[in-house]
Amino acid sequence: MTEVNNYAFESIEVNEYSVKCDGGDELMGHPRIFLEIAKEENKVICPYCSKIYIINKIG
Ligand SMILES: [Zn+2]
Repeated sequence: MTEVNNYAFESIEVNEYSVKCDGGDELMGHPRIFLEIAKEENKVICPYCSKIYIINKIG
């Protein structure tokens, strides 16, 4: 059986709790918004494109 990615949508590791998202490219894009990663959850999901931003705690 093939290994399947558990995330339905793309996940991105970031180093800051404030991230901005514009959908990543012109075709899939949306107006640029700022997202705040909740420190209890360590992740935030963009309401436009459902990308998952996960804090990378290294360092
Ligand atoms: Zn987005």
